[in-house]
Amino acid sequence: MSVKALRATFGPLCHWCGLPMDFLEPFGRPQSATIEHLNDATLGSVRKQAHRRLAHAACNQARNEFRLQAERQFQAWIAERVARG
Ligand SMILES: [Zn+2]
Repeated sequence: MSVKALRATFGPLCHWCGLPMDFLEPFGRPQSATIEHLNDATLGSVRKQAHRRLAHAACNQARNEFRLQAERQFQAWIAERVARG
């Protein structure tokens, strides 16, 4: 599903912040629309389409960074737990 098709289905607002996206912005600019993949690994490829939404590149990037941070913190917590025995 393309950006255009997602926009036609879900409208011009960002999935995360609810503010309008700028469809004239070049791809990758902060206010541009990017495809957010909400599917998780347990879903088959057939169902993945239903879990695509549009989000600002900025919101998409922030989400990825926060998730990565959380994952690193969790890994550190696990390592500490294991070290303590
Ligand atoms: Zn947004």
